[in-house]
Amino acid sequence: MKPKVVILGAGYGGLMTVTRLVKKTGIHEVDITLVNQHHYHYETTWMHEASAGTLHHDRCRYQIKDVIHPQRVHFVKDTVKLIEQKEKKVIMENGELTYDYLVVALGAVPETFGIPGLKEHAFSITNINSARQLREHIEYQFATYNTEAEKRPERLTIVVGGAGFTGIEFLGELGNRVPELCKEYDIDRQKVRLICVEAAPSILPGFDQELVDYAVHDLEAKGVEFKIGTAIKECTKKGIVCGKNDTIEEIKAGTVVWAAGVRGNPVIEQSGFENMRGRVKVKPDLRVEGYQNVFVIGDCSLMINEKTERPYPPTAQISMQQGETCAKNLAALIRGKETESFSFENKGSVASLGEYNAIGLTYGKKVTGTIASIMKKMIDNRSLFLIGGPRLVLKKGKFKFF
Ligand code: FAD
Ligand code: NAD
Repeated sequence: MKPKVVILGAGYGGLMTVTRLVKKTGIHEVDITLVNQHHYHYETTWMHEASAGTLHHDRCRYQIKDVIHPQRVHFVKDTVKLIEQKEKKVIMENGELTYDYLVVALGAVPETFGIPGLKEHAFSITNINSARQLREHIEYQFATYNTEAEKRPERLTIVVGGAGFTGIEFLGELGNRVPELCKEYDIDRQKVRLICVEAAPSILPGFDQELVDYAVHDLEAKGVEFKIGTAIKECTKKGIVCGKNDTIEEIKAGTVVWAAGVRGNPVIEQSGFENMRGRVKVKPDLRVEGYQNVFVIGDCSLMINEKTERPYPPTAQISMQQGETCAKNLAALIRGKETESFSFENKGSVASLGEYNAIGLTYGKKVTGTIASIMKKMIDNRSLFLIGGPRLVLKKGKFKFF
């Protein structure tokens, strides 16, 4: 009997694992099954663009069948509900699967830290569905503004909670989108407010100060107001309640976007894995402590950076590299060989500020402006290349640089 490998999630980590495992093993060695809740893979790293409406959501996704080997990988479109570790079983909405080896790569969900009203009233930048919903909601606010006898300025107020990479990249897109919406719906740009509320003393906490200043300058020039050192305490139907020191302020807003962090997929907690905010601490070879046959990678996993003694931030970059090591280790286990330790090669971070501007720190070098923006597009294209080769790059890649 061939060992059965089941991979949960067709995001960055899952697709890297599948494509590399196919290359590293033969058809007679292993049965590979990939489970994902949709027929398509979406580029999570492009969701700020789809959410702002600067890039159509169909440009940000592709069919999973187009990148997996039809004879080698059995694809199951279903939603994972539970992993029964003792029985080596995955329970899904419409069926069950047993496994010999399991890879959990189910990504993240927004972390709301129990702040009241966020789940009910705020939007998030997470996947195709949330992006479509947010884009349409913003457009609806603009479309409705002039139709009401009593014009409500809060319709045109958008609050973004969190100035991490997601919040900043989204604001960069909005800064470009808002003038277009104003033109389309005959609205004076001065009536629109874009407010970013960040709890830490700076945007992009921990990032290089010069690059932070560059981003603040660029976004302020596009009309973004920053409320720094201010935490969102509550979200209501009407907007948010936020606080700085002892001062509490209410901001009325037609749109509140929560971009203040992520936690691992809820399946992790529901399945009884020991976890920190839905992330499972993994051993150096990416297996879960106490389980010889379960790997957790990507945003569901937690790995400590020995140099900083803090967890690596959850990124596509690390997820893809983990996928590669995970595939190697699966092939090794199937052949009765030793696994190897994962080692992260940090290539740096680049954050976009709209379509033609960006900031970045790559291999210790600072980049800004057009060069940084071109680099960001190259990174996006590279991740398409690693999963789907040149065909996928030609189909979905970003080639408009100026
Ligand atoms: P994902 O790529 O999110 O994939 C998870 C997959 O699991 C999805 O296909 C999903 O549909 C599926 N799934 C989820 N639940 C279930 C279920 N119950 N059953 C079946 N299938 C399920 N990182 C970078 O390195 N660089 C960037 O530039 C960058 N930009 C970002 C921009 C934005 C707007 C955001 C939100 C994040 C960004 N990140 C970036 C972070 C990066 O997107 C994540 O770290 C990365 O997507 C994690 O990869 P993953 O494989 O763990 O999960
Ligand atoms: P994050 O955790 O990096 O940032 C969240 C921000 O929200 C923090 O600055 C935090 O201080 C703030 N915050 C928390 N609670 C708050 C509150 N109550 N009120 C106001 N602000 C509050 O989260 P993210 O930006 O969603 O990023 C998630 C992961 O994805 C990170 O690892 C990030 O590096 C990665 N990412 C990378 C890129 C890129 O490389 N271009 C882009 C997007 C995301």
